[in-house]
Amino acid sequence: MKIAIIGTGISGISMANMLKGSHEVVLFEKRATKGGLIQCERVQDCLFHKVGGHVFNSRNQQVLDWFWSFFDKENEFIQAKRKAKIWMEGQFIGYPIENYLYQLPPTVAKKIITELIALQPSRKASPFEYGDFGEFLQSTFGATLYEYYFGPYNEKIWRADLSKVAMEWLEGKLPMPNLTEVMQSNIVREEESAMVHAHFYYPKENGSQFIVDRLSEGLDIRTGCAVNDWKKQADGSYIIAGESGFDKIVYCGDIRQLPLSGKQLLVQSGIVDVSYIEQLRSNGTSNLFCETDDNDISWLYLPDPSIKAHRIIYTGNFSDTNNRGSQRKTCVVEFSGKVDYEEMCAVIGQLPGHLSPLAHNYEPNSYVIQDHRTRPEIAAAKKVLAAEGIYLLGRFAEWEYYNMDKAVEAAFALNDVILGKNK
Ligand SMILES: Cc1cc2nc3c(=O)[nH]c(=O)nc-3n(C[C@H](O)[C@H](O)[C@H](O)COP(=O)(O)OP(=O)(O)OC[C@H]3O[C@@H](n4cnc5c(N)ncnc54)[C@H](O)[C@@H]3O)c2cc1C
Repeated sequence: MKIAIIGTGISGISMANMLKGSHEVVLFEKRATKGGLIQCERVQDCLFHKVGGHVFNSRNQQVLDWFWSFFDKENEFIQAKRKAKIWMEGQFIGYPIENYLYQLPPTVAKKIITELIALQPSRKASPFEYGDFGEFLQSTFGATLYEYYFGPYNEKIWRADLSKVAMEWLEGKLPMPNLTEVMQSNIVREEESAMVHAHFYYPKENGSQFIVDRLSEGLDIRTGCAVNDWKKQADGSYIIAGESGFDKIVYCGDIRQLPLSGKQLLVQSGIVDVSYIEQLRSNGTSNLFCETDDNDISWLYLPDPSIKAHRIIYTGNFSDTNNRGSQRKTCVVEFSGKVDYEEMCAVIGQLPGHLSPLAHNYEPNSYVIQDHRTRPEIAAAKKVLAAEGIYLLGRFAEWEYYNMDKAVEAAFALNDVILGKNK
């Protein structure tokens, strides 16, 4: 078959690699550069992750085996331990916070422990038994820890009423805290984290851009080519960007901007609420790339509502080559939504590390926000489109809170569908 893939983020380029052995694959990318959210650029020879600071790991052996077949794990990657901290009231607190209650003021710690114990009998077995994210956090961690940390941090990052955020996005992200482990961590003061990124892999050179570049080798990519529509021919094939003969289309762009012919199929089906899909909410991210004083932290969370930034990612600690053009270390300060350069520069004065700015970027779509209707509506849309040989794949096409590994996993599942192994 001849297959068009629209979008060259990790989803599109992974899919292309899976298909290219047995099919002719052409990728279309609206931007001048490939890579989507995981692109990086060098600024004064220092590496700027333009959106976040991407690290890799997975719990899925199929994903790991596939990924490592492209790289020399020992020589091209660094394996690092996650060292996250929380910056509160001018102090560094360990992460996850519930394991470091001994670092909080004693009266606050006592209140939190009392609440955690009192909540035990009513705790549900799975996070998915809670109605929404806000309820999950309050019922799991108690009112004090919610007010002190989880509420302000998550409201800042999601810019949404947490009672409207569906639980599904948490899948595989947050382990349910276990009271025994919390007590053990606070008493013995060492903890074993089960988080997927507790250990992570990071390229020695060029961060996630290295991943993009390697996975793009040998692919037929047309950059600067936005696919605004396609045309179905009498023989069932599609014309895209003037090129004919495509049997299938994999759309990795934003479902809200699905090309017109795709939207028409959804409308005609009568089973998809297209206006709901068009109004799905997402958040953007503003990033300020900075030089910083030395430290050994990987991520620093900033719950304080009076500080507009929500996180610092110390990308300069992931690989020394990221700091090549500087005498100091580098990091990315992340803000939710669109924040002006001047405002970001003013905020970094409130942060530790004597930060000085090097560059900035605004990405209008970085986080999807799901609600209770999202999954059923997207599932219905997928069904309608698949009947026409059109498939949705990736964070904004499927409206899933995918990390890179989950995007690869989704590509595997779609590969089976396209090969007819799975319906
Ligand atoms: C702040 C932040 C930090 C993150 N950190 C991590 C991390 O540490 N580890 C991790 O594994 N994951 C991380 N992620 C998640 C990761 O970024 C995503 O899982 C991944 O990048 C999604 O890739 P994608 O291909 O689905 O989408 P995208 O990267 O958005 O790619 C879509 C591509 O399609 C193109 N496109 C759209 N419409 C069209 C069109 N009509 N025609 C042509 N081209 C089009 C776009 O230009 C884009 O290149 C992070 C995400 C964020 C926001």
